[in-house]
This record gives sequence, C-alpha cells and structure tokens, in this order.
Amino acid sequence: MDRPLTKIVATLGPSSSGKENIRALAAAGVSVFRLNFSHGTHETHQENLTFIREIAKENHTHYSILADMQGPKLRVGVFQNKSVTLVNGQSFRMDMSDTAGDETRVSLMHPEIYAVLKEGMILLLNDGQIQLSVKDFGKDYVNTTVLVGGVLSDHKGVNVPDVVLPINALTSKDIVDLNFALEMGADWICLSFVQQPDDVRLARKIVQEKAGIIVKIEKPAALKHIDEIIGLCDGIMVARGDLGVECPLESVPGIQRQLVEKCRLQGKPVIVATQMLESMIQAPVPTRAEVSDVATAVFEGADAVMLSAETAAGKYPVQAVQMMRRIIMTVQKDPIYRHAMESFSMPPDKTIASAITSSMKQIVKVLEKPALIVTYSVSGKTTMRAARERVLVPILNLTVDEKTADKLALIWGVCSVLTKQLQDMTQVTPIAIQEAVQSGLAKTNDELIITAGIPFAKQGNTNILHVTKVE
Ligand code: PGA
Ligand code: MN
Repeated sequence: MDRPLTKIVATLGPSSSGKENIRALAAAGVSVFRLNFSHGTHETHQENLTFIREIAKENHTHYSILADMQGPKLRVGVFQNKSVTLVNGQSFRMDMSDTAGDETRVSLMHPEIYAVLKEGMILLLNDGQIQLSVKDFGKDYVNTTVLVGGVLSDHKGVNVPDVVLPINALTSKDIVDLNFALEMGADWICLSFVQQPDDVRLARKIVQEKAGIIVKIEKPAALKHIDEIIGLCDGIMVARGDLGVECPLESVPGIQRQLVEKCRLQGKPVIVATQMLESMIQAPVPTRAEVSDVATAVFEGADAVMLSAETAAGKYPVQAVQMMRRIIMTVQKDPIYRHAMESFSMPPDKTIASAITSSMKQIVKVLEKPALIVTYSVSGKTTMRAARERVLVPILNLTVDEKTADKLALIWGVCSVLTKQLQDMTQVTPIAIQEAVQSGLAKTNDELIITAGIPFAKQGNTNILHVTKVE
C-alpha cells in the first residue's frame, strides 16, 4: 500500500496560494484543500479553486475542496495604540460604543452577548489567554474584573462558554460567502460555531445537496446534541482550536475520540483539526508530541487530519504535508493499527448494500492480501459504506458523476475515477480491472473485490459482489 489511507487536508493562505504552491502541496500528498473564508477574498478563493481543478486534471485525479465559513466568531474592536496590557485585578469594560479602546475599555459590538450575561460569568479573550469575570452589565455594556491578564490587541476573539448565544451559525457575511462557495462548486461547506441542530437545518435549506455539510464541533452546546447533529450533517470536524478554549483543554482528547467513533459508526467523514504540527509554522521539524498527536488521530481511524496555519501561513508548508504523510504511512503499516481497525465492531444495517460491504471484511481476512476494493457508485454512498469498514485496502470509486469523485477525496481510503455508464453485466469486471491497472492500484495476479448495482443507472442499489484476479 503505497498511498495514505487517511487523508490530508491543507488550508490555503499566503504561504500556499498560487498554482505552483498548490501543485507542490498536491505532490506532497494533499487530497483536500480548505479555503478559509475567515481570511482572503472571493477573488483569491476562486482563483485557487480553479488552480486546484486544473492540477487535478493534470494529475488525472480528484481533489476535494472545503469552503470553511467564518461563523459568528465574536471579536473585540480596535485600540488607540493597537494593543493594551491588562493586569490581574483591574477593571475592564466592554461596550457597544464604536470608539477605539484603551486600558479601561474596548468596543464589543455583539448585542447578543449582553443579553445572556450573568454576574460572575467568565469571558475568555484571545484564545482563552485572558479571563474576565462579569461584575455588572446592561443591554449595551459589561464591567468586568480581570482574573488573568495579558496583552489584548485589535480584533481578538471573545469566547462565552457555558451558554447558548441567541445567534445563528450563519451570519450575513456567511450567507454571502456560502452562496459564493456553492456557485464556484465547493464540494464541502464547513459550518463554524454550530450550537444546535437547527443551525444545521438552516444551512441545509441553502446548501441542499449541492455540497456536503461539515459541522465544526467547537462549542460545548453542540456536544449536548451531538447525535442529532451528526444525523443531520454529512461530516464532522473536531475543531480543537476553539473547542480547547470553550471546554477544559484536558477534555479535548476524550471528546476527539468520542466524535471519531460516533462518525465512524454512522459512516460519515470525520476530520481532526488544529495545531497538529503547529511548531512547523516556524521550524522544519515538528515536536515529538505533535507527531504523536497526528499518529493518534490516524490510530483512531479518522478520515482525515488537517493542517491550518502550517500550510496557510507557515514557513514549511510542503515539509508539514510530507511529515504528515510519513506519519500516516508508518501507522498504517503497524499491526496494532490493523488490529484496531479490524476489532472495531461495526453493526451492519439490514440492507443488501450493507450486507455486501460488511462481508468485504471477511473476504479480505480470508484472502489476506487482496489489492483493492472497486465500487461502482453514482452517489458515492456505497463507496462510503465500504470505507466505513476500514478494511486496510484502498478503495477505487468508479463513478459517472464528477461531483461524487471530487467529494469523495475526503473519505478514508478512497480514490475515484470517472467512468461511462455501464450497459450490461459483462462490462463490470473488465472495466474494473482496466481502471484499477491504469490507475496503478493493481497489477497482474492481484485480487480485486468489486461491488456494483443492477440496474446500473439506479442510485443506492448495490447488489453485486464479485471477487476476481487480474490476469
Ligand atoms: P478555525 O477552526 O481554524 O476556523 O478557528 C478550527 C478550530 O477552531 O479548531
Ligand atoms: Mn474555530
């Protein structure tokens, strides 16, 4: 197996925009590109998307594009001198006045926050580095005591854990960005700061089936409704950055494990994100702890691991991807990984398609070394079903739908090739073999496991399982 089964997501930014940079990331092992709508312009996102699609054609492959919405990220305004230093015990006010701040106050133009304040409540600023305790408040101001001080500069984030804020997960900026992302053909839309299932329902009204919806789990409120949220969306991102501010930091590894497991059971993709190789923003080699962190996400069976600032703004974007790839390749050769994937109990649904994909596990066990699973799939559902089993064999997704091919680049183990609509049963095996050999995934004497559905044009109809040898 010479390719990573766990996928690499790279965020584009100043360090990685432009065709040459994107080509280098793709060559290093990226399958999924994240366009971060918290930064950049529509113009650069559109330009990068066009480059990605062109590079996919050059490389005869498919990449997935995630459009990540900023969401209702709460921020303070600006300071007269760009930043201030808050000291423990001092008073500090935030209010709806649109004037530049100083050591005593700053603007906080989010009326929703004032509506949910309580005396003694903790407000977290600058990724949780500064802690304020609420003293008193009105509908347009709050006076606080600084519990943990530090430097606070323009536009730093504000987190209000423990409460459900009366805001939508889609701001007016997000709605504009979302429509733009759909129009340019993004494969997945990421929703930030989702608090409740209705946030997903609202997004679905706009997105419909034009793209997959990935919910970023970064609020404790979302965890309270996690099963319903996973049921409504098409995938999850364990957004450890904000999650680690809003929840006790030490609870994040357990939450990650739980989310990966829940998504795997549902057969929905799960991405582990943020600070995976953080020190590589500045250095060509990561810390041991970071390597271990990436390996842990792979051992847990995540579909994908993500790079953020490492590729968007770091000094070593290509090296970070190469490092991740080496970690993935090493873990997937480890017998402990095989054992972990095999022993994960995956109750099948009572459907023919599920009976077929779950029996692949048994076939692989008996044959020991089949080279490849080939799935004919229009919507990608059967292919995702096959990926859910985490049989340690790559999956070749043969589809007539280019959108499906692009989208599934995020899914564990899957790569896609576009095929023509089959006309009759006799074509199933020869075309599967031909595509497998042509894409370099199989050679003479390799065994293939093939699934398809008759009649061919009908979706969600997998009912054939065929095991064959490449002659
Ligand atoms: P962000 O999301 O990078 O958009 O904040 C990821 C996270 O919070 O971990
Ligand atoms: Mn976040």
